Amino acid sequence: MTAPDPTADPVAAEAIRETAGDADTGAARVGARRVVVIGGSVIGLACAWSIARTRTAAEVVIYEPDDSGPGGVPTSGAGWVAGGMLAPFSEAWPGEESVFALGVASLRLWPDFLEALAPHTPPGPPIRSATHTHMLAVDDADARDLDMAMSWALGNDVVVGGINDADLRRVTRRELREAEPSLARVARAAYRMDSEGAVDNRILLAALTRACRAEGVTWVREEVASLDDDVDADRVVLAAGSGSAALAGLPIRPVKGEVLRLRARPGCEDPPRGVIRAFVRGRPLYLVPRDGGLVVGATQYEHGDDRQVTVAGVRDLLADAEMIFPGIGEYELAEMIAGLRPMTPDNLPILGVDPDDPRLIHATGHGRNGIALTPITAATVGAELQGAPVPEAARAARADRFRRG
Ligand SMILES: Cc1cc2nc3c(=O)[nH]c(=O)nc-3n(C[C@H](O)[C@H](O)[C@H](O)COP(=O)(O)OP(=O)(O)OC[C@H]3O[C@@H](n4cnc5c(N)ncnc54)[C@H](O)[C@@H]3O)c2cc1C
Repeated sequence: MTAPDPTADPVAAEAIRETAGDADTGAARVGARRVVVIGGSVIGLACAWSIARTRTAAEVVIYEPDDSGPGGVPTSGAGWVAGGMLAPFSEAWPGEESVFALGVASLRLWPDFLEALAPHTPPGPPIRSATHTHMLAVDDADARDLDMAMSWALGNDVVVGGINDADLRRVTRRELREAEPSLARVARAAYRMDSEGAVDNRILLAALTRACRAEGVTWVREEVASLDDDVDADRVVLAAGSGSAALAGLPIRPVKGEVLRLRARPGCEDPPRGVIRAFVRGRPLYLVPRDGGLVVGATQYEHGDDRQVTVAGVRDLLADAEMIFPGIGEYELAEMIAGLRPMTPDNLPILGVDPDDPRLIHATGHGRNGIALTPITAATVGAELQGAPVPEAARAARADRFRRG
């Protein structure tokens, strides 16, 4: 086996440099013969790619039973369903300092991550589908909450290093109209965040799959029933989304979300230019532009393992979206789909070596933010495998906070 080379992954190198202050920490760079990644959706693919391209293991194998999407990508995971927003600021909430810090750290890694993926991106639209976000409040109570959350985000000392006050600002109604002329004039308050936006999660899955293939990653098309019996590996990375709970007894619960995919028809109003987020009638709503259309999301229910799309969910999404973007009625309703967000009790993912099983590395429990947290998760898993320090912001997400027994 060749020696692991963390510098082959600029994203991992950047994340680790932040922690190590550019110094050689002297940490042992330990590789592995065979690493098995359980789950081949967005998190599993990103981890497998990072491990393979840094030569951290001689062999990287993904166990993923679902190859039902184009190019063999899985469609049953949340990674296929998601809105693809990169949203630490729009989701910022006082008391969630660690969630916010992790999100901001990952947001900073996205430009390098996308650059490294560029050679593997299929021909067609780019992975990044929007580069900014507007957050709207449509009544006075929402406006107060939005002002409070954004002042908290702006005052938070993790907002450094390339993402700063200039990227997040309150905008006037006139500025909002000029930036997003197709929206109804319903906003009482609005903020613009220039570094957020969204990626097209389905193109991301395709690009990661191609990148893994290019680095020699292989797939076993089987579901893993038990960590003890089924997996022949030196190290195991658990990236099975809401399926991780059953495999490792983790406190992850499925939170169902429904989204609609709309396709533009000739003559219909242009979709918003960036991501639009709002609360409408007390419900969260987002509109995410995509090549040729937009994604409308998302409902949220604690119904266990239920992936059926309901009439009430679709009705609410369409009614709320039409209040913000009246031109929606002319679009084709191309797809209605539901997925399961793998949520943890504290809204942080579970990242790092299991406290009771040193062979096992967790990369799971990403809840609402798994797309956004993909680069920092891959960097953290890579660091754990190499015995290097994990990125500072990932320390709060370590697996021993839910130590079993
Ligand atoms: C409606 C909705 C909207 C969302 N919007 C956003 C958003 O805008 N931005 C954002 O950052 N995040 C968003 N998310 C969250 C994001 O999709 C998830 O956090 C992310 O997909 C988690 O990735 P994952 O790879 O861990 O799990 P998943 O994408 O759920 O994939 C898990 C994979 O593991 C496989 N698997 C499961 N069990 C086993 C087993 N035993 N053996 C082998 N394989 C197994 C499954 O087949 C599946 O392919 C959204 C989620 C939903 C549902």
